[in-house]
Amino acid sequence: MPELVEVELSRRWLQARSAGRVVVRVEALDPGLDLLPLTGARLGDWWRHGKQLGVPFTPPAPWPQHPRAAELGERPQLLAHLGMTGRWALATAVERHARLRLALDDGATLSFIDPRRFGEARLGSASNAEALRARLGPDAWDLPPDGPALSRAFGRSRVPLHHALMDQRRLAGLGNIAAAEVAYRAGVDPARPGDTLTVGEWARVARAIADHLAFVFDAESGEEVVYLTAGGANPFLVYGRAVCPGCSTALVRRVARGRSITLCPALCRAPEPRVASA
Ligand SMILES: [Zn+2]
Repeated sequence: MPELVEVELSRRWLQARSAGRVVVRVEALDPGLDLLPLTGARLGDWWRHGKQLGVPFTPPAPWPQHPRAAELGERPQLLAHLGMTGRWALATAVERHARLRLALDDGATLSFIDPRRFGEARLGSASNAEALRARLGPDAWDLPPDGPALSRAFGRSRVPLHHALMDQRRLAGLGNIAAAEVAYRAGVDPARPGDTLTVGEWARVARAIADHLAFVFDAESGEEVVYLTAGGANPFLVYGRAVCPGCSTALVRRVARGRSITLCPALCRAPEPRVASA
């Protein structure tokens, strides 16, 4: 499932392949993704905020006559997210699960491939894009929080740490994998309510967020997104694992607010961030 790093790698890929290019043809293989007004549009620079992607575009010249021109405005955007399984790739003859294809003026065709179909690509106005971003907290990578910032955001809440870290309205980009890994790296029980963490623990959580994200950027070697859990070796410290890499004790699962949370019963802190990939 895409979290901040996979979405950022998608952004870089889309930026390299499509920024400044004109969309010459839109193929909506899934009628739910209606991007036909993009035909003839020139794409600008892709942005990412948490798990949300967007790109402003310059509409084609006859835009004022377009039926959606009034609604989308002068500086419309393509707004997209990857859902649970989405990824962007160059179109191939054999691909399955493509929901959308954008043919560009340099001859390349981009496909949005999304087997489980929870992803999204839609058009919006500049103010739609602003409203979308206003609902998100600071991006966990671009604006990494320090201990005091985390304490301000979550330190008066009864919400378990694991759930707090996934609250996109307060901190954007972390998902279920990051929440498990961050709590483990920080040596804090992820089921503890935010209002029980000390200043020192929040500082460790902040450090762990930065370390986890840097680690995943490092582990994702290719330029196209391959979900790390979709095959090959699991690089994570506790996510998807049975045994603690620090003390070799069996990891335990605890249910908090309907979510199963994995932790080391000894609350180990990862001895080395890279231990799991060794
Ligand atoms: Zn342990």
